[in-house]
Amino acid sequence: MMKKLTALCLALLVLMTGIAMADTSFTPGVYAGEATGMGHLAVEVTLSDSGIESISIVEDNETPAIGGEILKTLPDAIVAAQSTQLDTVAGATITSAALFEAVDNALRAAGVDPARLTPQAVQASEETETLTTDVVIVGAGGAGMTAALKLHELGYQTIILEKQAFVGGATAMSSSSSLAQGTRIQAEQGVEDSPERCMIELLVVGEYENDATPTWLLSKYSGAAIDWLSDEMDIKFKEDVGSASAEYSVGRARAHVSGSGTGLVEDIKAKVDARGIPVLMNTRATEVTNDNGVISGVKAVDVNTGKQYVVNAKAVLLATGGYCYDDTYIDPALKSLPNSGSKANTGDGIRMALQYDAVLQNMNMVAVAGHGIRIGDTSHHTQGQSKTAYRNTGTILVDMNGRRFANELGRHAVLFPKMKEVGRTFMLMDQAAFEAYTTSCVNSKFFSQEQLDQWIEENGTGVTVMAHADTIEEVANIVGVNAENLIDEVAKYDGFVEKGEDTDFGRAVSVSLSKEGPYYLVEQCLRYSTTLGGVTINQELQIVDHLNQPVAGLYAAGELVGGVFGANFPPSTGVGWALTSGMLAGESIAEYLSK
Ligand SMILES: Cc1cc2nc3c(=O)[nH]c(=O)nc-3n(C[C@H](O)[C@H](O)[C@H](O)COP(=O)(O)OP(=O)(O)OC[C@H]3O[C@@H](n4cnc5c(N)ncnc54)[C@H](O)[C@@H]3O)c2cc1C
Repeated sequence: MMKKLTALCLALLVLMTGIAMADTSFTPGVYAGEATGMGHLAVEVTLSDSGIESISIVEDNETPAIGGEILKTLPDAIVAAQSTQLDTVAGATITSAALFEAVDNALRAAGVDPARLTPQAVQASEETETLTTDVVIVGAGGAGMTAALKLHELGYQTIILEKQAFVGGATAMSSSSSLAQGTRIQAEQGVEDSPERCMIELLVVGEYENDATPTWLLSKYSGAAIDWLSDEMDIKFKEDVGSASAEYSVGRARAHVSGSGTGLVEDIKAKVDARGIPVLMNTRATEVTNDNGVISGVKAVDVNTGKQYVVNAKAVLLATGGYCYDDTYIDPALKSLPNSGSKANTGDGIRMALQYDAVLQNMNMVAVAGHGIRIGDTSHHTQGQSKTAYRNTGTILVDMNGRRFANELGRHAVLFPKMKEVGRTFMLMDQAAFEAYTTSCVNSKFFSQEQLDQWIEENGTGVTVMAHADTIEEVANIVGVNAENLIDEVAKYDGFVEKGEDTDFGRAVSVSLSKEGPYYLVEQCLRYSTTLGGVTINQELQIVDHLNQPVAGLYAAGELVGGVFGANFPPSTGVGWALTSGMLAGESIAEYLSK
């Protein structure tokens, strides 16, 4: 059960379940502890004779908007629970795990066994605070924060509630690649695109299971959203439209200059802060309120202290993300795959919207993705890096039989089911390809240099497989891939490069694998994260009921909306939709409030 909750929700959980702290004696004093997160992390833990009194961060080198944020609040959660046996925080797993380790080390220095400190009940708070604003936004992911920027631009006050100790949700975990049809850059680079062309391509990928309303909004306004964020909000995107992926006929994606979701979120959050838009962290919305049927705001709770909030507002925007960590809707068959989504995606928005007769659609649909590596009991998305390796180097994807089985750069809806069918799969890389791949992943904070060093040292014996050896035969033998076939497959691929044509699977081929070792086999891992179902909206992003009537004042944006993507997840549409729907929801709410 703990695994399904964020560390910070756990404090509230223990409030309800009343888990008791083990009997332990403490020697009062201040104790130092260290660990390695994204860099060196040092803490001081102050103990009283009854337990952990406070934790202060002495040194940290964490990513400011994510790890840095949780370091401001996660220490309080540890003090509240009197334990480090809390879940790591999704999107900041490296930092949160490092903090737990540093505190554990300080406890050990004080002669306390951290394993004996089980989470303690947090006292319920009677305190209730009432806040009033024009619009309350639930969720500080890409959609929620973008909507807040638009509403601020249009002259409306907002309060954003965020249940985690940091902003960003799944948006921070993405590569930031965002669908952007009709941008200024497309026009400057002579890319011919149109909303209709984009819409048709999205419908084909989605196997016509889409809801035309959000898919059309995405097709029509995604370029305008990126141009507005870039030109008016000074959010910095790369000045190119990217290569056309197999799903699209033209390049129509824009990534943040940092190339990472973390960078995108940091940039957006900085603009939110610069405008003085309040973001209440660790504050979970629990209910949308109404006054005689008219939406009047939300109720919320501080997950660390139990303090209650009543937020009065004329409109509510639910931007709570998807439901990959909500068992109600996830097909049990998917449970054999790691879930690489945000642990905050527990379907809260769905439950709040259902109180207003919201209509759910495509709830059984979940995006299964295959470009990524396993880390512990989960996995990390490395899609951009994997595809770059296939595009720019002689990297090939093989099964245990040592054979390629699909176009590595082909449509996800073809490649990923094929990966499922063949079982374990590995990228065969040479030194240059491996270095480019891992350097980009470390820079994007997908994993740390220390983790990488460990996996290289484990040489295929650990959970994350990055086996290496001087020859192809040796590396194949380490992980049990058929070496003879693998050598044969590489020779065959070389032949394709010479001819300039992959007659097996039709991949664009131009570069061979180096003739010099070392070689690497990096295991790729199927996983799920992004959910494709959700609430039904109209063109104004209002949530509609079963009679298709809008619930006046109640809006949805981002992954909470169902039917945008259809049965499969087209590349870059998650972030694209979060930003586009955030902007459009802001405009629609402003229009509603102006009447
Ligand atoms: C590993 C990974 C990689 C991805 N890569 C890409 C990619 O490269 N390109 C792409 O287009 N898409 C990608 N996606 C999908 C994309 O990131 C998401 O669809 C999109 O960012 C969702 O944005 P959002 O704002 O709707 O939700 P989120 O970014 O998840 O934000 C929702 C926020 O709401 C908060 N919240 C939830 N419930 C409550 C509550 N009750 N009260 C207060 N706050 C609450 C959450 O804590 C969270 O911060 C990826 C997803 C994952 C998991």
